[in-house]
Amino acid sequence: MPAADLEALAHPSGPVLVVGGAGYIGSHTVRMLEGRGIPVVVFDNLSTGHREAVTAPFVEGDLRDREAIRGVLREHAPRAVMHFAAKCYVGESVHQPAVYYRENVLNTWNLLEEMRAAECSEIVFSSSCATYGLPVKLPITEDHPQDPISPYGRTKLHMEHMMQDYSRAYGLGFSALRYFNAAGAAGDGRLGEDHDPETHLIPLALQVALGRREEIAIFGDDYDTPDGTCIRDYIHIEDLADAHLRALALIQRGERQVICNLGTGEGFSVQQVLEVARRVTGHAIPASAGPRREGDPARLVSGGACARNRLGWSPGRTDLEDIVGDAWGFHKSHPQGYGS
Ligand code: UDP
Repeated sequence: MPAADLEALAHPSGPVLVVGGAGYIGSHTVRMLEGRGIPVVVFDNLSTGHREAVTAPFVEGDLRDREAIRGVLREHAPRAVMHFAAKCYVGESVHQPAVYYRENVLNTWNLLEEMRAAECSEIVFSSSCATYGLPVKLPITEDHPQDPISPYGRTKLHMEHMMQDYSRAYGLGFSALRYFNAAGAAGDGRLGEDHDPETHLIPLALQVALGRREEIAIFGDDYDTPDGTCIRDYIHIEDLADAHLRALALIQRGERQVICNLGTGEGFSVQQVLEVARRVTGHAIPASAGPRREGDPARLVSGGACARNRLGWSPGRTDLEDIVGDAWGFHKSHPQGYGS
């Protein structure tokens, strides 16, 4: 990022309010903001996040609580918001859509309304490649049709539409970052991925290596891919965090809509990920093929030039060994997660 942009971000015009800053992606972004001298306040209800993952000023609060949002906006007068707080499991969303519409759509509306009242008009938020649904072409570029197949994907699309409408009507500046598969951990092992229950491939494989699980199930080995298992685009969590800072700088320069895919453009199968995890950990990581998981497309790989052209971003660590190696660094130093 050009030095001038970073200076603008560090300018003392109020902190960045990071909603959901105690979660996996939020905590890495908070640390990067702080590392670059940008003041931060974290707002998180700790439903899935970890207090231990946050060193920045912290306010415990829930987006359901309009008074709490109003309070943090009034007290800290943030110059912008980063919004990571959401429910994010495709399978769960199929069985509990009401929770997803409340937590993702309604809570985002609460946040936008309080931001509007407080005249805080810039936001960067987590969207998802799940907004595209089943790919009709690969790689998936930003102009790919958005036809989500799960309630989760639909709630993320509603969030995008809400931002677009607020942008048009009220001048909101927003960036929707459509993540592919966030993976890895901070290079020094201090921050990492810790969900309870864990559902993601890489942490589950590493839990097998740590002896916390016997084996891992491969969700389908009869897909139309070279080894029959699903292909995903794994992006290093610190690269992902870096893209958020760049998106924020762009919004702060006056751009009103920045919608970008964030992935590496390279796909790895479940089998390939497990092979890498075995090499990195030196553990056999037993795996057995089971049924497909509902809502899993065979391949999801990111394309599109927005991140490169508009954010000046490209992923720094595309080697899967590096990504899994950093995740392993966190898991070894936190064998039971953060402990909260
Ligand atoms: N996966 C798997 N076994 C597991 C967890 C995940 O085979 O125990 C597969 C899953 O079907 C998908 C890939 O690993 O193809 C990545 O899944 P993950 O849950 O990590 O991320 P998602 O793609 O759901 O965001």
